[in-house]
Amino acid sequence: MYDLFVIGAGSGGVRSARLAAAQGFSVGIAESSRVGGTCVIRGCVPKKLMVHAAEFSQYFSDSEGFGWTIKGAHFDWQRMVIARNKEVDRLEAAYKMNLKNSGVEIYENFAKLRGMNEVELDNQKVIKAKHILLATGGKPKKPEFPGVQFTKSSDDIFMMSSLPEKVVIYGAGYIACEFATIFNGLGVDVTLVYRGENLLRGFDYDIQRLVKQGLQEKGIKVIVNTVIDSVTKCSKGLSVDLSDKSQLVVTEVVCAVGRKPNIENLGLEKLGVNLNEGVVVVDEYQKTNVSNVYAIGDVTDRLNLTPVAIRDGIAFVDTVFKNKPTVPDHHLVPKAVFTKPEVGTVGMSESEVVNVGKAYVVFKTEFKPMKNQLSGNPQKTLMKMLVEKKTDKILGIHIVGEGAAELIQVAAIAVKMGATKKDFDVTCAVHPTAAEELVTLN
Ligand code: NDP
Repeated sequence: MYDLFVIGAGSGGVRSARLAAAQGFSVGIAESSRVGGTCVIRGCVPKKLMVHAAEFSQYFSDSEGFGWTIKGAHFDWQRMVIARNKEVDRLEAAYKMNLKNSGVEIYENFAKLRGMNEVELDNQKVIKAKHILLATGGKPKKPEFPGVQFTKSSDDIFMMSSLPEKVVIYGAGYIACEFATIFNGLGVDVTLVYRGENLLRGFDYDIQRLVKQGLQEKGIKVIVNTVIDSVTKCSKGLSVDLSDKSQLVVTEVVCAVGRKPNIENLGLEKLGVNLNEGVVVVDEYQKTNVSNVYAIGDVTDRLNLTPVAIRDGIAFVDTVFKNKPTVPDHHLVPKAVFTKPEVGTVGMSESEVVNVGKAYVVFKTEFKPMKNQLSGNPQKTLMKMLVEKKTDKILGIHIVGEGAAELIQVAAIAVKMGATKKDFDVTCAVHPTAAEELVTLN
């Protein structure tokens, strides 16, 4: 009997398995797809590599303002795919090696719960475990309209054998906006169709405004307050009927309308694990209603980000195997969206501050960064800080522009420590940088 059996070898599952094994406990882990999960195999990592691939077109055009002439630049999708897949394979192998070196036994099988202390693999093998951890992550949702079967999800993008000519992206969340940016950078004709008005719902309004403006400046067509009525096959590819009665003919339609917990056939209902609309319900220590079954990461649909799943895993191991009950900290988690312009954000948006009724001051600057004075790239940079009037404490920082994701990681440390605006003011600037604007806001 294992001390721990983990179902799902993504970021959260792997970290939990390794940490428990490092404490001397016997651990097994099952994965029905590839070790590494969404982040490594069909999410953050291959996506970020494609973000880099797509960035070069902007670099080439920016370079002309600095005296360069770039002739004959050509993008080869197949070469990028081979290089990207090689890196994903390398990481998967490293994940497997790390698990093995920690003493974790890997089962490359689909696993489901059979009883409180029993898991059954798809080869009928039954495994016994004192504790079971559900770390099965999430998967893309598909909307409902006639012809949806002709559309692709973000998972499918990583399997595309050629670069499409014309794409409709449906949705305006992280995935939709990031892939609109990627395809656009690679020279694809992109139209983003969104049912609402402002892209990236939940983000600060200034972020929403600048991302929409930035995508449009790059030539992405943004159609808002519109839904897809149907998709049909046609001689040129796919014909997309929109609710505004217009029609688009494209090569691919990508739906990025959110993700849902991956719980199918896991045997949860049979064991009586509490679910809420398909989400595994856990208490603050990530325990389900079945006393030895825990769940972490996207399958619990709390804050669906890789670093959060990893921290959930650390808290789980502290609680169950280190006798140190730990509630995972989901407060002030910094976030990035790898669009052009890039987004980095931590803390509350302005509308959230208004909703909680705090008196606040906004410090904000929007400017053309030095590089773009010569490159001719119209992309602006935004630095926005929301400060509580009474305490001078920083409630939120929102950055749009080059390097925003890297910057927010560091700014988030200060915000997490409870920094005040004065703490930023007394910090000397690093010149000439865009980041210095953060310590000179007034
Ligand atoms: P999001 O929830 O971010 O966005 C979903 C989008 O689809 C929204 O624009 C939403 O509209 C729209 N939508 C939802 N349902 C429908 C429907 N039935 N018809 C039409 N439109 C619909 O989901 P994503 O798939 O983009 O990303 C999933 C999660 O993955 C994110 O929440 C994030 O946690 C994670 N992620 C993080 C990344 C990062 O950290 N950089 C990158 C990629 C993913 P509306 O706004 O009106 O609800």
